Amino acid sequence: MNLNQNDVYEEEVKSLLKHIEEADAIVVGAASGLSAAAGFKHYYVRDDDFVENFSDFEDKYGYHCTFDGAYYPYMKDEERWAFTARFLSMILNAETGETYHDLYKLLENKPVHIITTNQDSQIERVFPPENISAIQGDFRYFQCSKRCQDKLYEAKDIVDNLEENIDENLEIPTELIPRCPNCGAQLDTWARSPVFLEGSKYINEHLKAQKFIQENQDKKILFLELGVGRMTPMFIQEPFWNLTYNLDNAYYITINPKDALLPVAIKDKGMAIPEDIAKVFKDALALKDSEKLSDENEQS
Ligand SMILES: [Zn+2]
Repeated sequence: MNLNQNDVYEEEVKSLLKHIEEADAIVVGAASGLSAAAGFKHYYVRDDDFVENFSDFEDKYGYHCTFDGAYYPYMKDEERWAFTARFLSMILNAETGETYHDLYKLLENKPVHIITTNQDSQIERVFPPENISAIQGDFRYFQCSKRCQDKLYEAKDIVDNLEENIDENLEIPTELIPRCPNCGAQLDTWARSPVFLEGSKYINEHLKAQKFIQENQDKKILFLELGVGRMTPMFIQEPFWNLTYNLDNAYYITINPKDALLPVAIKDKGMAIPEDIAKVFKDALALKDSEKLSDENEQS
């Protein structure tokens, strides 16, 4: 980074903070890049978390990240459930990423709603549920794979128990395969898939976001997009672009080290920061603290 790029970056961080401070309402769009910035990279990378938790699965199946583990064509349900149990147990018992605490501090005291395609329930550790719309499901829940009922089941105790019962062949006992209490079909993770249950909770997640946007559409509303990749732009990114274009007082900021895109149509109503999300949060918080300090000094 040369001096010039440094100056540009400093201005971007200043501008981010200014737009957050001046906004009447903030809609955050949180996607996989935010989780990666917070250190959860095992989905796509053979990182320490993967090595620590999945070396035995890697030896048996030859995959090197959990995403490949999730899509592996297991021969038996007992094998697939062993992977699922290890995977969900690791995620549901993970520490809360510091980047999520930083996001909370950055948006403190602002009316905020978070729309997320992440299923790892990290955001749910720091923001209250009424401020979150998990539109692609949530790993904390199971559903019936046959969708016989509009009902979700708490996953954590089930997966922790399964995880403890994985045997040396990396299988779980057949009788422990989680089943729907109503119809007896296997349970499935409540996450986007061909059998994803779009029931009352799913609808409510969308309604919460709609309500927040409608209530604030005439105010100074900031759309803050964090880490949307090129795989699913239709859930967060494209709606954010359309809303920014159509709402008079809207502004759009994307922070994304790989895919920070700003369409020409909203170039005067937005900004793209092509940097690491965790770093941007840290720098913005440091700036926020220094501004607070100088305000206090002026007053005293
Ligand atoms: Zn069922």
